[in-house]
Amino acid sequence: MKRTITAILCLILVLGAFTSCAGCGKHPTDPAAKGHDYLPQWSTNATHHWHDCSDKTCTAQIDKAEHTWSEPTLVKEATVKEPGELKSVCTVCQRSKIEYVEFKGFDASFWTDLAKASNYENYTLSENTVAGDVYASALYYFTADKVYLTSVNVDTSEMTTEEVGEATAERLRSYYTNFLGTVIELGQKCEYVLISRSFASSESFDVTVDGKAYKISELKIELDDDLKVTKLDFVMTDAENSAVKYDYSFSAYGTTVKPE
Ligand SMILES: [Zn+2]
Ligand SMILES: [Zn+2]
Repeated sequence: MKRTITAILCLILVLGAFTSCAGCGKHPTDPAAKGHDYLPQWSTNATHHWHDCSDKTCTAQIDKAEHTWSEPTLVKEATVKEPGELKSVCTVCQRSKIEYVEFKGFDASFWTDLAKASNYENYTLSENTVAGDVYASALYYFTADKVYLTSVNVDTSEMTTEEVGEATAERLRSYYTNFLGTVIELGQKCEYVLISRSFASSESFDVTVDGKAYKISELKIELDDDLKVTKLDFVMTDAENSAVKYDYSFSAYGTTVKPE
């Protein structure tokens, strides 16, 4: 009997040495009983923060909770080239997150710059007039000091290009660029659909040119990488006679192309 008791006691001692490892403390197999030494810094993922146990082999965590995000602040304005960035910071663990905001529109100064007459030197203005059955087409080339006009004779289909002359050029340039400015100003007020770098509006608006009422529709503006206008199209319809329509198109022809 005494042998049996001794054997059992020995077994308990041996097993006890394996399960507790209380002597060295390096390999606690019963963490709940031993307790943990948690890291002061937060561990985080996209949704939560918590404190990990300093023992890398231990998976215990405390204070696990969802982030409490601050009010987002705009750290980068959206541009036509890149989306804007809204930054939020967790008030507990300081982890930050970025949300992207789409470009919604230009500010007033962009539109003011766009409407400047000097932007439309070396531009072509094509004017297609539809009045009942009569269709006429004209192309104006604007240089810094002159305007050239290419027109098509409706009866003979003959095409001619002529220098409109400096004085007239000034007047024409002023007329068209001021008119263009009006169109752009009107465009600024309407809802735009941003498709890559082009803007299109399905709205129409009323405009008065030389005392006559017109309706402008199908306005579309295209921009290049430097946000310069490469194309601007719109349709102008006589308010009193919708059969009379003008398709206008401004586009850059560059400095190398000059009409003969
Ligand atoms: Zn631990
Ligand atoms: Zn957090």
